[in-house]
Amino acid sequence: MSDLYAVIGNPIGFSKSPFIHGRFAEMTGQDIVYQAIEGEIGRFARRIDEFRAAGAKGLNITAPFKLDAFAYATEHSESAKLAGAANCLKFDGDTVSAQNFDGVGLVRDITVNLGVEMKGRRVLLLGAGGAARGAFLPFLRERPAELTLVNRTVAKAVALAEQATDGEPVTVCSYEELADRGGFDLVVNATSASLRAEMPPIPGAAFRGARLAYELAYGKGLTPFLRAAKQEAVPGLADGVGMLVEQAAEAFAWWRGVRPPTSGVIGELTIPLV
Ligand code: NDP
Repeated sequence: MSDLYAVIGNPIGFSKSPFIHGRFAEMTGQDIVYQAIEGEIGRFARRIDEFRAAGAKGLNITAPFKLDAFAYATEHSESAKLAGAANCLKFDGDTVSAQNFDGVGLVRDITVNLGVEMKGRRVLLLGAGGAARGAFLPFLRERPAELTLVNRTVAKAVALAEQATDGEPVTVCSYEELADRGGFDLVVNATSASLRAEMPPIPGAAFRGARLAYELAYGKGLTPFLRAAKQEAVPGLADGVGMLVEQAAEAFAWWRGVRPPTSGVIGELTIPLV
């Protein structure tokens, strides 16, 4: 019998995960069934109990259930703990292990797929929600010269920066203060502003000299953030489709012990940034 996996979210109809994991299974010869579950708010635990009772081996989690998934797990990776959220679970008897692969997926897309080194660079990370918290440690592991955190609610960025150890080059500032900080080599939009076609209020000067502007949202074409970067002549523009596929590959490797190739699937899902 095939091993059972799924993604849960609400809404889930537009999720690319069944397609991605289906392609991974084909390419690696793994025998899995991968479903999409429309979760009900307030019924996460009961639904996952049923899913496990049906013999499920693992689960991907998307909005708005990442905190529920974290609470449901019995063991948590360092990245899940820092994010306070899980985007992947593995089931083994009574043990439920939680991971958060969003950050490693993002770093892999930036450094491997897009070929932009973070080491020694000035990096600006916008947002301090789940995705930004997931990116924080993986970004620091790349040893940037400076990691600047900016969030609308500054206290959340301050709390995130407190997770850094002494000597790590993390600074926090407000959107207003960004005007005095000059340009960054890499600007990463981990806010959810683009989901409402809004722009995080960063000055054009932040893009000056940048090699890459990275938008975590995907499938939206040229968002206001990417449009602003284009106006400032940033040579590299990317949305989060590569991150999505890379975090899925991390999950697949964790569950199945084999890492699938990703470039073909990224190509199949890429929408031109126009
Ligand atoms: P959260 O809701 O956890 O956090 C939202 C963040 O955006 C907060 O920091 C919030 O600030 C900030 N924000 C919202 N609106 C604005 C605005 N108009 N101006 C400035 N800041 C704003 O969301 P997530 O972290 O889960 O998701 C963030 C983005 O990442 C989304 O676009 C999501 O689609 C994308 N994503 C992509 C993934 C991928 O695989 N490509 C995976 C996961 C997420 P405040 O704290 O002040 O409210």
